[in-house]
Amino acid sequence: MKNKVFLNGTIYNAKDAKVSLFDRGYLFSDGIYELIPYFNSKPFLLEDHYKRLQESLKMIGLENPYTKKEWFKNINDFTNNSEYKNYYLYIQVTRGAPKDISDGVLREHAATKNYITAVSMFYSEIDNLQEKNIIGKKSITMEDKRWKKCNIKSISLLFNSYAKTLAYKEGAYEAILIRDDVITEGCSSNVFIVKNNIIKTAPKSNLILPGVTRSFVIEKIIKENGNKLLIENFSKNELLESDEVFITNSTQGILPITIIDNMKINEGICGEITKELYKTFIKYTG
Ligand code: PLP
Repeated sequence: MKNKVFLNGTIYNAKDAKVSLFDRGYLFSDGIYELIPYFNSKPFLLEDHYKRLQESLKMIGLENPYTKKEWFKNINDFTNNSEYKNYYLYIQVTRGAPKDISDGVLREHAATKNYITAVSMFYSEIDNLQEKNIIGKKSITMEDKRWKKCNIKSISLLFNSYAKTLAYKEGAYEAILIRDDVITEGCSSNVFIVKNNIIKTAPKSNLILPGVTRSFVIEKIIKENGNKLLIENFSKNELLESDEVFITNSTQGILPITIIDNMKINEGICGEITKELYKTFIKYTG
């Protein structure tokens, strides 16, 4: 089943799946996506990912093409033959191409026509978190120049991918974003700091993506470890002066950041609180 894709209810070899040039996802990034990690062949936090998918669809006024039951059946049928044990499932839903182009109008900004919603899925292997060494990564910081609807999991990732490419060129894993001197999030992660044994992360708002991993870490892992948590904004100074920094996302779980803008955090070593959180986290991914 290597390089199979799901497109509108059919499973194809990747090279045989075709979408229209006039798909609004292709022309305008008019669509949303979701990414579900599978650890040891089991979907992790599937319900939460589905809920966010539904919310993103609602926020862009796109009717959900499937019922929850249909989604779960499609997802199951598609992933059942995966040759991987640890992988992410990528799901994309775009408004699609016009049903009728006989009027010759092939592209218009306003979505005024009837469209054939396009649903696609594919999967790709990821690390087994339980076998991974927890190693601190480098990050840069950058001004957050995205639009102010970052809570929608939009397929429009031009800024995110631009910023992350700059980070990559500097040997960094992530670019941590700053808006009005407040740390919002990473290009593909949520950001947490630890200072004097208190963990801090930005509150949910239109300025960040409500990470599924972020919520799980807040509601389950931090509680289980008995750490103190403050959900409030923090500045770039606080970030750089913190004792520990870590980021969360679906494929990495919890990832320590030990160098930011070439400055060492905790002398460049992953802190104890982060380590303990990671240990608790991976118990759930077995
Ligand atoms: N913030 C942004 C901008 C992201 O792209 C992602 C994930 O890709 C996250 C946060 C983390 O979200 P999750 O934990 O649901 O993967």
